[in-house]
Amino acid sequence: MLNEKMYALGSKRSVIREIFEYCKIRAAEIGADKVYDFSIGNPSVEPPKIIADTIADLVKNESSVALHGYTSAQGDAGTRAAISDYINSKFSVALTADNIYMTCGAAASLTITLRAVVNPGDECIVFAPFFTEYRVFIENAGGKVVVSEPEEKTFQINISDFEGRINEKTKAVIINSPNNPSGVVYSERTIIALTELLKRKEAEFGHPIYLIADEPYRELVFDETTVVPYVMNYYDDTVVCYSFSKALSLPGERIGYIAVSPKMQNSRNVYLAVCGAGRSLGYVCAPSLFQQVVKRTVGTTVDVSVYKKNRDLLYDNLTSYGYECVKPDGAFYLFVKALEPDAYKFFEKAKQKEILVVPCDDFGVKGYVRIAYCVDEARIRNALPAFKALAEEYKE
Ligand code: PLP
Repeated sequence: MLNEKMYALGSKRSVIREIFEYCKIRAAEIGADKVYDFSIGNPSVEPPKIIADTIADLVKNESSVALHGYTSAQGDAGTRAAISDYINSKFSVALTADNIYMTCGAAASLTITLRAVVNPGDECIVFAPFFTEYRVFIENAGGKVVVSEPEEKTFQINISDFEGRINEKTKAVIINSPNNPSGVVYSERTIIALTELLKRKEAEFGHPIYLIADEPYRELVFDETTVVPYVMNYYDDTVVCYSFSKALSLPGERIGYIAVSPKMQNSRNVYLAVCGAGRSLGYVCAPSLFQQVVKRTVGTTVDVSVYKKNRDLLYDNLTSYGYECVKPDGAFYLFVKALEPDAYKFFEKAKQKEILVVPCDDFGVKGYVRIAYCVDEARIRNALPAFKALAEEYKE
């Protein structure tokens, strides 16, 4: 007999994938420029030129073993050192290469980390709205998902709701800022309140509660004054799950890392558990060529101004048509209140106007849709009349 849980996961596509596949079919029917697909978070901005230049240089000058052979299971030592040096210089922490584990993107960073710290029956708290795959990753590690409700309207963490959900079974807490799907950046005030509470709860229960910071969008912020606090500086039991998928527009290359805080209780053992989890999941030796690429380019990012322009275009127009949403400070998503209580019904009405957005019930907040604006500006401009007509339909 098959593993029923795995069969269920494989046979039921995520809502986002479902819509994405529909878009392809619809585009073939009526033309791609007439389908306003805002479903998937596939970065539209080109990677910085240095990426192609670095690949060309590596291919020309490096041996095939260095480019395509195995590295150590936890990743090339030089790459890990380049990453830890970069993080130290930017955030004044004291990581070494031995705190870094190279991964196939944030999904692998999360699954490995959860597997490393969670025992069956442990609880993991996520903050709505949250990336839907957290549920899959946590349950796969044997954990139980506990959802904390957000602050109304701002979608910051609601600390008193969070406090009510922590108990002695709480093993890990996942935060994601800038956030998918809201685009909200958690303020330093929020992070301080969260971490102070966690410290008290750790003392009360006498065991670590790991704070997992899922940060694929860290660099995608639109205002120079926006600070995305580096959580290791606020809380010792932190693991950062990073990915180059969004900051360098390389999601298909599957490259990221896990950084285990050196200040954590039993930091070395947690790192070894990460290595063990990577081994047990078959996530060893992240793609070698891209380990070399990020070693040489760490710290560079895509041109974020393109996303900011898209954000402004969409936000300004949609709010002028009567849509309600929080103005995102980062990532490339707009979290919009559906114009009727049922987000799926709203999604169907939008679909009739060829607008494809994602209903967010699975993200833990009902009555909202996500618009991924990592698309050509032309798609947004073409879609605006349809968004306007849709809003007007609801006013009739
Ligand atoms: N975490 C969040 C919040 C995401 O939005 C995504 C992808 O969209 C991931 C993790 C997975 O990223 P990756 O493609 O690097 O595995």
